[in-house]
Amino acid sequence: MSSRQLTAYKQAVLLTAKKAYDEKLMAGTSGNLSVFCRELGQVVITPSSYDYGIMEEKDIVIIDLEGNVIQGCHKPSSEWKMHVEIYKHLPHVGAVVHTHSPYATSFAVNHQEIPVILIEMIPFLKGKLEISPYAEQGSAQVGLNAVPILKRKNACLMANHGVVAVGETLEQAYIHSVYAEDTAKIYHMALSCGQPVVIPGYEE
Ligand code: 13P
Ligand code: ZN
Repeated sequence: MSSRQLTAYKQAVLLTAKKAYDEKLMAGTSGNLSVFCRELGQVVITPSSYDYGIMEEKDIVIIDLEGNVIQGCHKPSSEWKMHVEIYKHLPHVGAVVHTHSPYATSFAVNHQEIPVILIEMIPFLKGKLEISPYAEQGSAQVGLNAVPILKRKNACLMANHGVVAVGETLEQAYIHSVYAEDTAKIYHMALSCGQPVVIPGYEE
């Protein structure tokens, strides 16, 4: 892995974080995202509690799987253990996007799954949006609770917390986080004006 590749990862993490913030998937300094360089066992991750509006490439942090900072001048995201547990347990995952996007998080607060009511949920999310059990912020358990769902799905709702989406690439993980929010928004609207119908054959 060349330093040019790591710089490209840092740039991708920065641009995706800003895009997610602009799209209102994250409010304030909530949420975090990362890319995993499996070859080096290093995670390129957003800094903790840092304003997305002023974030620059130099603010992105590189850590090892124990959370030691390899590069960067800030603390890594407080959820770094969640990211690491997902990478350790799911070999197909190359990037993680965690948001507190409001519609999806509303269902996470209610511990309410979202059934397969939209065609995009099939290819992008791999089925219904399930709820992973609550765990304390910053604990490895946050990730461990999501792993059984993320083995089968590209996103899940974390009880009383938010969304975690995964992908082979950061672009994919980001799109999955967008679809989790879009699905929740449309489900919320559909519930407010009628009774949403599950796509035939997906009444899991
Ligand atoms: P960080 O700013 O430390 O990444 O925390 C945000 C968050 O979403 C905690 O769950
Ligand atoms: Zn969070």
